[in-house]
Amino acid sequence: MTWDFSTEPEFEAKLEWMRAFMRDEVYPLEVLEADEAGFMRAIRPLQQEVKQQKLWATHLPPELGGQGYGQVKLGLMHEIEGASMWGPIIFGNQAPDSGNSEVLAHFGTEAQKKRWLHPLLEGKMRSAFSMTEPNTAGSDPTLLSSTAVLDGDEWVINGHKWFSSNGMIADFLIAMVVTEPDAGPYQRASMILVPGDAPGLKKLRNIPTMGGHERFGYGHAEILYENVRVPADNLIGKRGHGFLIAQARLGPGRIHHCMRWLGQARRAFDMLCERSLQREAFGKKLASHETVQNWIADSAAEMEAARLMTLHAAWVIDTAGAAAARKEISLIKFFGAKVLHDVIDRAIQVHGSLGYSSDLPLEEMYRHARAARMYDGPDEVHRVSVARQILTGYQAPPGIWPREHVPTRREAARRKFASLLEAAVADA
Ligand SMILES: Cc1cc2nc3c(=O)[nH]c(=O)nc-3n(C[C@H](O)[C@H](O)[C@H](O)COP(=O)(O)OP(=O)(O)OC[C@H]3O[C@@H](n4cnc5c(N)ncnc54)[C@H](O)[C@@H]3O)c2cc1C
Repeated sequence: MTWDFSTEPEFEAKLEWMRAFMRDEVYPLEVLEADEAGFMRAIRPLQQEVKQQKLWATHLPPELGGQGYGQVKLGLMHEIEGASMWGPIIFGNQAPDSGNSEVLAHFGTEAQKKRWLHPLLEGKMRSAFSMTEPNTAGSDPTLLSSTAVLDGDEWVINGHKWFSSNGMIADFLIAMVVTEPDAGPYQRASMILVPGDAPGLKKLRNIPTMGGHERFGYGHAEILYENVRVPADNLIGKRGHGFLIAQARLGPGRIHHCMRWLGQARRAFDMLCERSLQREAFGKKLASHETVQNWIADSAAEMEAARLMTLHAAWVIDTAGAAAARKEISLIKFFGAKVLHDVIDRAIQVHGSLGYSSDLPLEEMYRHARAARMYDGPDEVHRVSVARQILTGYQAPPGIWPREHVPTRREAARRKFASLLEAAVADA
């Protein structure tokens, strides 16, 4: 099996344009202090340029309203735009909007697409995905306790959610709630669209986090649903299909994070190399100290592995579909999060106090990298999933290690050796 991740010259030219655009237009914005409305206004011309280049919302195929580049090309693009935390919003791929647009594109009705998906894709709306609950369901969503009950032609939603990213500014939320309490654990939940201004929806706060997401209003919201009434038509897909849709949403969504992490790690790595060549300590450049060389070599090896694993998972999705790539996606989700963390950590270390300061983007990248080991499923859950997939129906290749009693095997090996020796002597 061969994997070829090279692309045609026209596409390479687009990647080149993206690199220059990120460097000249997006990186300089990183130190900006502004409110959400001001920021969104300021980036509109940049988003316009991206649209003109046909690089907007590249995560969806054309029939669903996107550009249709496929996952491998998406990986190459996300790697570039992910190098800055402002890249995704300028390119129309910001989580959770990107994952939510996939849900609506794949499972929404025509009316839902018209009302919610199209404005979302045009960048005129923001959205949130509201699944995690503070007291019950996180890693294990079968523990969901929020409910929706059909009352006439309306759903009545009650529950307590948190870490709904974008929740405070969302024009709509996709709430994952129990609608079939008596069904099996994976058939109990459904996804329902909730307008951001629905009566009874109490947006309590942006939870203060080590990520400091509160900048620009974007953040992770704690939300109470108190008798929130929405039309029955706001159900996405079928009743009890919440898990099925969540799998479809989170699969590609997870790998999109991994793609962006490649760019973050690469940027931290470049800063690590640059600083080690500039700065001196104890009579020589930092780059000449063996420990720093080890950091550079380890980072290069880990990043290369993460990149190949990410693009390979993307290739499996492109060629066999997201369901066939479950193991590959879980592998890179926990491996990529560690690589991201470790490379940024080394880059901070080589910069010393400068690395710890907010004059460089590294400390912010580091704080966000810590969350990567939790969102979209913590490391441990992905490891369990990988191990289960490997071990289910596992059959060792024949002859890897004969199971007979070892002394008996030693005796057999001695006899074989003696007969080979005899043959060799007779030959001589
Ligand atoms: C930055 C950020 C953004 C987020 N955005 C959203 C969002 O938009 N919408 C949303 O609904 N949620 C969101 N989340 C929540 C996220 O999905 C949950 O944090 C995650 O699913 C873990 O759930 P939990 O925090 O409740 O941890 P818990 O379920 O309480 O788990 C705690 C820990 O237990 C351990 N653990 C769990 N299962 C196993 C296992 N099988 N084996 C061994 N150890 C295990 C893990 O170490 C885990 O970290 C976000 C979280 C963060 C940090």
